[in-house]
Amino acid sequence: MPQQTYFINNAFLSDGWTANVRLSVDDKGFISRLEKGVCAERGDQKLGTVIPGLVNCHSHSFQRAMAGLTEYQNSPTDTFWSWRKTMYRFANLVSPEDLQAIASYLYLEMIKQGYTSVAEFHYVHHQPNGTPYSCASQLSQSIINAANIAGINLTLLPVLYMTAGFDGQPLLEEQKRFGNSVARYLDIQNEASQYCANQHQHNVGIALHSLRAVPADPMNEVINHFVKQSVSCPIHVHIAEQTQEVEQSIKSLGKRPVEWLLDNHAVDQQWCLIHATHMTPEETTALARSGATVGICPTTEANLGDGLFPLREYLDQGGHIAIGSDGNTCTNPMEELRWLEYGQRLVTRTRNVSSDNTELHTGTNLYGRCLDGGGRAIGQKTGALKLGCRADLIVLDDNSADLANIATDSILDVLIFGTSQSLIKDVMVNGIWKITHYHHADEERIKNMFISATKAMRG
Ligand SMILES: [Zn+2]
Repeated sequence: MPQQTYFINNAFLSDGWTANVRLSVDDKGFISRLEKGVCAERGDQKLGTVIPGLVNCHSHSFQRAMAGLTEYQNSPTDTFWSWRKTMYRFANLVSPEDLQAIASYLYLEMIKQGYTSVAEFHYVHHQPNGTPYSCASQLSQSIINAANIAGINLTLLPVLYMTAGFDGQPLLEEQKRFGNSVARYLDIQNEASQYCANQHQHNVGIALHSLRAVPADPMNEVINHFVKQSVSCPIHVHIAEQTQEVEQSIKSLGKRPVEWLLDNHAVDQQWCLIHATHMTPEETTALARSGATVGICPTTEANLGDGLFPLREYLDQGGHIAIGSDGNTCTNPMEELRWLEYGQRLVTRTRNVSSDNTELHTGTNLYGRCLDGGGRAIGQKTGALKLGCRADLIVLDDNSADLANIATDSILDVLIFGTSQSLIKDVMVNGIWKITHYHHADEERIKNMFISATKAMRG
């Protein structure tokens, strides 16, 4: 039996904007019925303009504590590698309690701005000297707890991290918290899966930090472990983010990172490649045709000076994309989408790079692609208002000046390119209202926990 029914004036469905839609949501939070072009019935909750919530396909929660604190010059040639020193300092300060508080606040911010699911690429596993906690998955549990406190759907991706570089050098002192053998990694992955086994809105996948941090044999071992058990879960990997990484890959593996991965693994829709910034046209085509998703993190890639993803070429070959907040200096998906397009405009000196003849509106095109790619990247039924999907949705503020007097097919363009105000009034996650009238019920408490947790760290 449906738990609740909703009548929506204007809904963004998989096949476009549709008027007068009735949704039924069952007691597990799934859409159990969808009717179009109908009238409201007694007992329906009435909603105005509704769009599906987005998936954030890539986050490192603890980095939210250091947002804005790396914006000063260390040397005239600052790069990703000098940023990484500050990141390691924060990674080594965070306790399980701190991580839970920081992630809770971060996830609350994400929900308020339109993300209803997050994939946490979680690589800090142990105590600072590398000794495991008495419960090996302690920090994974902090992340799961945080998702429950804020009320976001979580895809936890415990990360395998083994070496300090392509040549197999042992981990540096500041990387000890991240390191695992394959056996210990599988234990953490298993423990974390047990910890959230009864919560269908969460799932646990696999993450391989990068080709420089995971040698070929352990990578095979982990993937084969799941293949043998016929377990199909998301597999995420950082790849080709930095030109230095590409050069080292060619030197050590004889191939570029994306080329090597595609040649050595059956990359398919189970995979999400994070960044994939530096590719040849041949790699771009092969990756697009593999069925994998690329997780693009525009504000982080800009912040770190990574480079620019070959978006148009990849989309032209049928590639799938999702967006991630990565370093969490920005938790607003509309800004990620805006910069995904703006980066392309700046280098090509053209406009509306992401639109095509299937969908002329750039905002609609980007939003629709990232809804689809987001669901693929986390292997969950989300990202669409359709039967069998989770009821993860956003109600826009129809009383805003920005949405007044505009045609329906411009709504997503306005949301992404036409305003710096939030137009997200209410957010439903997994069938439950988490944001009502711009407000989360536990907002003050969660914010205060974040402030306490970051006091010593930021000092
Ligand atoms: Zn990352």
